[in-house]
Amino acid sequence: MVIISRMNMPIDTALREISYPQQKEPEPGSSVEIAPGILWLSMPMPSSLAFINVYLLRDNGGWWIVDTGLSDQKTSKLWERVISETIKPDSVKGMICTHMHPDHIGQAGVITELFRSDLFMTRTEYYQARAFANNTGNSHSNWIGQSFYEKAGMDKDYLAQVGKMWANRKEDSMSMPGLPSGYERMEDGDTLDIGGRKWQIIVGSGHSPEHACLYCEEDRILLSGDQILPVITSNVSVHASEPRANPMKNWMDSHEYFLSKIPDDTFVLPGHNLPFFGVKQRLHDLIEHHEERMRLITDYCETPQIAKDLLPILFNRALDPRQTMMALGEAIAHVHLLLERGGLERITRENDSDLFKTKTAEESS
Ligand SMILES: [Zn+2]
Repeated sequence: MVIISRMNMPIDTALREISYPQQKEPEPGSSVEIAPGILWLSMPMPSSLAFINVYLLRDNGGWWIVDTGLSDQKTSKLWERVISETIKPDSVKGMICTHMHPDHIGQAGVITELFRSDLFMTRTEYYQARAFANNTGNSHSNWIGQSFYEKAGMDKDYLAQVGKMWANRKEDSMSMPGLPSGYERMEDGDTLDIGGRKWQIIVGSGHSPEHACLYCEEDRILLSGDQILPVITSNVSVHASEPRANPMKNWMDSHEYFLSKIPDDTFVLPGHNLPFFGVKQRLHDLIEHHEERMRLITDYCETPQIAKDLLPILFNRALDPRQTMMALGEAIAHVHLLLERGGLERITRENDSDLFKTKTAEESS
């Protein structure tokens, strides 16, 4: 972690170091009041993410829930406990899902049905979640997926693995649950008044298309979902469903947007890892992390390369098929931003994978 030395900088431009007021997440099913009127809970995850954070916001006569955990049995049981021990006899007045990933919306349908409470999401996240829930989002094992992975240089065996993995999502708890047939739309700049606290909606993009964060300016608290995590670098991928997308541009622009909006003394309550201070330092670190990745690609592509061969350059470890899918999507995301910046060019080949080549100084001017 790069910490900017306060010794070498004027005090007003020195960034706050990343720090964690709590050293451990609450036991699943129990809660900690992490700020006045805000309860912090953790729900289990099967992967290296370990846990997802869920927050309860106190309102007059009830609670608002921010994100839910997965749709699996284990999480359902924990919610039964939270509802009987913490929420009841009050009710759930609103459910907010920051974005459409299954660990954030897994129980949204069940809980909103139980309490007849509204679901608040951004429009793109809501409709994308519904498309996946209806299983119309599978672009992995048809010709669209095939073309995407072949263009990236992946072989037929890998394609078969990806198709199988998608079909078995239910077994690894990553299936998309059904959602209510209606929702309340949140947009960037909206304000929600919850228990006398005003929460401004700030939208980022890149990890997911229209990710909502909630910011209370008065108390300097940010519920950041997966938009800003203190340790994990959120996955930013190009997918087969939109093969020319440029999510890394959205991601980098979002970091700049949050730098302009969020003061450095803000307490960040993220979707994974521990609540932390040091938001500006973290945003600068994330920008630098991706710039470094793009420098590696630029150097390596002086000899033209296919996307698949960028993986060992960017990811210095063995990857299983699922990790490979995310790593490939992320490698292509970096490549697409470099293409837009003009430092890289795509060489398309008939019935063969695309090549990427770094432009010379003359070519890029
Ligand atoms: Zn996510």
